[in-house]
Order: sequence, then structure tokens, then C-alpha cells
Amino acid sequence: MKSVVPSFAHRLMAWPRPLFRSALDLLYPPRCAACVVRLPSPAAADFCPACEAILEPVAASACQICSEPFPGLLPHGFTCPNCADQTFAFDCAISSWHSSGPLREAIHRFKYGRHLHLRLPLARKLFDTLSDPRLTQPGPPAHHMEEPDAPPAESPETIPDWILVPVPLHPRRLRERRFNQSAELARTLSKLSGLPCQDLLRRTRYTTAQAALSRKERLKNLAGAFLPVARKGAPIPSHILLIDDVFTTGSTAHECATALKKAGARRIIVLTVARG
Ligand SMILES: [Zn+2]
Ligand SMILES: [Zn+2]
Repeated sequence: MKSVVPSFAHRLMAWPRPLFRSALDLLYPPRCAACVVRLPSPAAADFCPACEAILEPVAASACQICSEPFPGLLPHGFTCPNCADQTFAFDCAISSWHSSGPLREAIHRFKYGRHLHLRLPLARKLFDTLSDPRLTQPGPPAHHMEEPDAPPAESPETIPDWILVPVPLHPRRLRERRFNQSAELARTLSKLSGLPCQDLLRRTRYTTAQAALSRKERLKNLAGAFLPVARKGAPIPSHILLIDDVFTTGSTAHECATALKKAGARRIIVLTVARG
């Protein structure tokens, strides 16, 4: 028979918030998300000062599509040679931070070390992308060719109602990893920002690890691997923020965006914690 006596954890949850926080800090002292050094309690930051100092923000002078940084003053709307050569199904990919040093370590600990609590510090880094002006700019960038019968781009005064959509994992990979890092990040970002989060995609094929493959091989490996989730009577939202942990070649994001655009989405911006 189930006990009616509240567990210690339940009793702790009922405490006033500052007291609860202090009790939790005593049990689980706050630690740096990367090097695990103990932080002063209550922690004012997610990384220790030494790690924080070497986090690398993505420079303001970067490609408008893939956020690849380029030194020097770039013309407005600059597109890098890599993006000029190809058409992505998403409008652009935004990361505020480079995947290097302590941030790469924190992502690695979260994803492969199963330190699920790191979703909060990492979602805070993802939150930084929401202030990017490309989220409030009208329509797709000028170089993207619209379909002839596509609806017109929204007027500059309109701020789109963005929906957060995580990149899905194949059920087999989900069993192996036990959680979908993109879904955890998207749900935490949803709590931080108030933007709704919906699981609109499913992965239909179990694909081999992408890391060792070239861009061309990645695209071939992923072709048709994502499908929209069937939702009775609910159309696919028109403005989607596709959420993932790291942006590298853009192949996964391209395949996800292809499936979402085929299903009716009009604008898709990829937001990642970091850029590889
Ligand atoms: Zn540290
Ligand atoms: Zn680019």
C-alpha cells in the first residue's frame, strides 16, 4: 500500500522558495557547468569566473545564414561562400556562442554524461539567441527565392508568433541516450521565454553517427529521415524555431526544415546553444 506520509523530497518542495533553494544548495551545492568547481551559494552564474572568462561569443560580423564568423566589417546581410553555394530549407541559423572550451565541455557532460540538470544553464545560453534581430525581421532574407505562389512576407511591424520545435531522436537512439537533448533544451527554453514548445517532428530512420561524415554524405544519410507528426485538424505553425544543441554543417537542420516546410511552415530559424 502506498504511504500517505509525505516523502522528504515532497516536504522539501512545500517549503517557501528561498528556504527550499538553500536546502537544495546544501544537498547539491552549485557547481560550474564545465569544470565542476564549487560555486558560491546562491550561485550568480552557471560557470565559474575562470570558465566564464573564456566562453567565446559569436562575433557580430558573421554570415547572415549560418552565423559563421568572419573578421572585419562585413556588408549588411553578408552571406558566406559556403551558404552562397547551397540552399538551406531554413531561413538562418543563430547561435550566440562557439562550441569551444567550457561550453563544449558542458554540452558534452549534458549529452553523453547524462547530467540532465545542465539543461538549465545550456538553455540560458540558448535564450541569448532570442534577442537576435533576425527574429523580428520581416520575411526571408532577400537572397532566398520565394515560391511563385507563396504568401507575402509579413510586414516589418509584425512580430511573429514563434513555436519552439526540438530536433527529434529516433526511438532507438532515445532508448540508448535515455533523453532527447534537443527536447530538454526546447522545453526549458519554453519555460524561460514563455514561447510554446511542440514536438512536431519524428525521426523515421536510425542513422549512423554523423560526425565522421562529409557534408555530402551527411545529407545523403539524412535524406527523408524526418516526418511531421500527424496532428488531427491542427495545421503546422507558420513560424518555427528549430532547437538543437550544436550547429555544425546544417544537414540535420536542413532535413528537419524540409519536412516542416513541406507540411506548411513558412519561416524556420534554427537556434542552437553553440556553433561548431
Ligand atoms: Zn569552471
Ligand atoms: Zn554561411
